[in-house]
This record gives sequence, C-alpha cells and structure tokens, in this order.
Amino acid sequence: MIAPGSAIGVLGGGQLGRMFAHAAQNLGYRVHVYEPAGPSPAGAVADRETCAPYEDLPALEAFARSVDIVTYEFENIPSEPLRAIEGIVALRPASTVLHVCQNRAREKAWLKANGYPHARFAEALAGDVESAALLVGLPCVVKTADFGYDGKGQMKISTPEDLARASAIFRGRRCVVEQWVDFEREISVICARTHLGECRAFPASENIHTNHILDFSIVPARISPPIESTARTMAEGIAGALGAVGLVAVEMFVTTRGEVVVNEIAPRPHNSGHWSIDGAQTSQFEQQVRAVCGLPLGPAGARNPTVMVNILGDSWRRNGESVAQPNWETVLREPRAKLHLYGKREPRPGRKMGHFTVQGAELEDTLALARALKARL
Ligand code: AMP
Repeated sequence: MIAPGSAIGVLGGGQLGRMFAHAAQNLGYRVHVYEPAGPSPAGAVADRETCAPYEDLPALEAFARSVDIVTYEFENIPSEPLRAIEGIVALRPASTVLHVCQNRAREKAWLKANGYPHARFAEALAGDVESAALLVGLPCVVKTADFGYDGKGQMKISTPEDLARASAIFRGRRCVVEQWVDFEREISVICARTHLGECRAFPASENIHTNHILDFSIVPARISPPIESTARTMAEGIAGALGAVGLVAVEMFVTTRGEVVVNEIAPRPHNSGHWSIDGAQTSQFEQQVRAVCGLPLGPAGARNPTVMVNILGDSWRRNGESVAQPNWETVLREPRAKLHLYGKREPRPGRKMGHFTVQGAELEDTLALARALKARL
C-alpha cells in the first residue's frame, strides 16, 4: 500500500489532474505534477509541478525519484519516457495498458482479440483510406490512429465524394476506418481495479455530444437494466483483461438493435465521470487514488439522479460578442447545482473551462433544469 502522506506523481496537468490532486490531498497525499506545456491547472493546486518536455530524461527521472507512485491523466505520452519512469517507480496503470489504449488501431485489434464487440474496422496504413473504406463499407468514419481526442482527426464518410476528400486529407497518416454505428445512445462506464484484482464499476453515464465534444452526462443512463448490467460487466472485464491498476473508462454505443458496442477505452479518469464528484458515494478521482495506492475501493453508487454539463470557452461569447465572464450567478443561485471551474485563463472555443452538475429526485426534471441553466449561462 502507498500510505497517505506519500507522494503521487501525475503525468499531465489538465483538469483531470487538478481534480485528482484535490482528491489525493483530501486523503493526505502529496502530489507532484509533470506537465510539458508550462504552468497548468493541476500544477496550480499540486504540492509541486515540473514543467519540462517528456523527452527531458534528467527532469523526468528526478520527477520519478521524488514520488512513491506515478499515474496519469493524459494518454498521449510517448512510450520511452513511460519506460524510463517504470525503471524507477511503479506506473499505474502500467505502460503496457497505455500502449494498447493510446493508438486506435492497437485498441481495436485488442478488442477483437479479446472478444469484445466493436465496430467493423480496417487499418489504413500510410493513409490508404480508400482501400480500408472498401473493406468496411459506407457510411464509415476515418480516425487518425494516434493523438485524437474530442473528435479531432476524424471525418465521417457517407458518399464517394467524401471518400475522395478524406483520401486527400489523411494521405500519409496512419488511420483506422470504422463502420458507422447507428446508435440510440452513447454511454460510458468507468471502473476502478486494484492490484489485487478487485474491480468496481460506477453506474453507466449517458453521454450527449455536440460537435464531437461531450455536452451532457446523465446518470442514471436511460437504458434498460440488462443493458446497464452488460455494459458494467464489459467494462470490468476489459479492465481485468488489460490488467489495469487504476481507472478504466469504456465508451460504448447502444445500437438501435439494443447491442452494446465498445467505442474507446481510456485508462484514466474521464470527462463523463465528473458527475461522480457531487453525485456518487465516492468520486472517480478518489477512486483513482484508492486504486493506484492499493487502498480499499470506495462504494461507487449514485446518490441521486445527476446531470453534468461541460462549460466550454464558447460560453465567453454571447450574440457573437466576447463577454468578460459567463453568467455564473444563474448556476450559483440554484440550490440543486454545483459549479466547478478549472482555473484556465484563456477561454478558447471548444476548450473545457469547467462543468456544473445538477441533482434532483427525478431525472427528466433534473435534465430540464440543467438545460435551462446552460441556456442562461
Ligand atoms: P471518439 O473520438 O472515437 O470518441 O469519437 C467521438 C464521437 O464521434 C463519438 O462520441 C461519437 O459520437 C462519434 N463516433 C465516433 N465513432 C463513431 C462510429 N463508428 N459510429 C458512429 N459515431 C461515431
């Protein structure tokens, strides 16, 4: 067990690291953040921050020596620095887990090899999108194999014209072409797994995206109990088969035919789990601390129906004009709402600046209030 009072290293300094640091400090841990891009939202609340590139081996090794365990909040970390860290201190989840999840082609191949349902796919080596799309069939979606998030590096292909455009855009890049899934809902299940193999899933969250970015997360998800149970069992099975110690978030589609299909795996806390800070018995961040440090896992049940709404930099614009601040009062005056801001200075469009949650006894009413507050922000 990594006992309270020890130091936890976190690779990545975004909002996930910031909320992780809050949870770790609540349990008496010290937190050291490593962030290449300079002073960060997580670094601002951590006990210590190192700002250096991942390739700066002396800085990375000094970071690893200063802590008792390392975890991460960000997937796009090159593998050499991860192995350098593992030579000094335990990394949880291990680099082998991250290796599978940080590349869409490897992830899809892993799902296939391990028998988890996924969209039909083909790898487009050197950007040969046309051959891959022929194998998969239209409509499909092309995604870059590496370094994609929030729908970046993706394009839906419905017509031969789209295909010609995609071929030009993605030429020379390693891509995955996936069958387009007709889904009824998008859901995700986050589960925690300890080094002893204990696994505990949070309730499924229903996720509504706008422009490829998560907009609302709704708990409980509006799915039937058998689908909820299938989704949770699948997420726990994936965490176990990966041998992950920490959190594993599994994004899934519930198809119009009632099947559950895995879209993506992230071995870290997930935006769709932010509802758990206010709405669950244990937050995803506290659960990550417990899992990576070998503490007993906390209960993961939902207290109430909860809706989480992301606040993007777009909220700093009204009627085409920029405003100094969104209308925070509208959320702050609502007794059923909780506001969380990440301390980011620059409100760029699409940038995740914060979120708020709304809780209530009844889900549809809670969702209606969340939508109304968002509209007035
Ligand atoms: P991803 O980056 O893979 O999570 O994709 C971002 C979003 O694009 C997903 O949340 C879906 O809304 C949509 N999407 C991605 N892949 C597919 C697919 N194969 N079929 C339908 N929609 C998809």
